[in-house]
Amino acid sequence: MKTSPSDDFDLAVVGGGHAGVEAALAAARLGCRVALLTHDPAKIGAMSCNPAVGGLGKGHLVKEIDALGGLMGRAADRAAIQFRRLNLRKGPAVRASRVQVDRAVYARAVKAALRRQAGLRVLAGEAVGIWLDGRAVRGLILADGARLAASGAPEAINSRTLSRSRRKLLAFCGHSRMHVPQEMHRCSST
Ligand SMILES: Cc1cc2nc3c(=O)[nH]c(=O)nc-3n(C[C@H](O)[C@H](O)[C@H](O)COP(=O)(O)OP(=O)(O)OC[C@H]3O[C@@H](n4cnc5c(N)ncnc54)[C@H](O)[C@@H]3O)c2cc1C
Repeated sequence: MKTSPSDDFDLAVVGGGHAGVEAALAAARLGCRVALLTHDPAKIGAMSCNPAVGGLGKGHLVKEIDALGGLMGRAADRAAIQFRRLNLRKGPAVRASRVQVDRAVYARAVKAALRRQAGLRVLAGEAVGIWLDGRAVRGLILADGARLAASGAPEAINSRTLSRSRRKLLAFCGHSRMHVPQEMHRCSST
């Protein structure tokens, strides 16, 4: 889907992985007009090889997302096949909750939640730069040359892209000050 100059959002979230979905939903719940820009919307909600949510390393994260009103725990409940409490024979410090889910049901639940959320639009595309007007952020520059206006709000990023490649860093930019990585400067324009 191409964007047009008439599209105007408060916030553009780049990346429709688990992090981007939660960021977009959280901002929309707060009343922002949100664009969730991702390479392939069909892959939203896709799980990795082992469709498990929770566990020792990430269970606390799922519970924190849930406590903040996020989607992951609710989508996992909807798609659940088996709930387990891990390490019950060991000490409390190493116990955790984990649920095995049906990956197709999970992905459908995530997509449905995005569709239901008022103020949120999912757009297909690749962000290649930050659209600047002087030092003010106007939005994003997409790979097909289109521009996505996101007036004065920061972009969010997906954590995996950030950890994999700092060159893809799009955030952080804010209302009154911003930091644009060196390699992004060539994309700026007025
Ligand atoms: C092989 C493998 C196996 C794994 N197994 C498990 C597991 O069993 N259990 C588990 O809990 N975790 C597992 N993980 C980790 C889990 O997949 C990640 O922690 C999680 O997907 C990270 O979510 P994210 O939203 O941060 O990033 P991602 O899932 O990487 O999502 C990033 C999204 O942003 C899009 N994107 C990136 N750059 C741009 C751009 N410039 N413009 C537009 N869109 C963009 C990408 O297309 C992608 O859709 C595994 C990871 C891998 C690689």
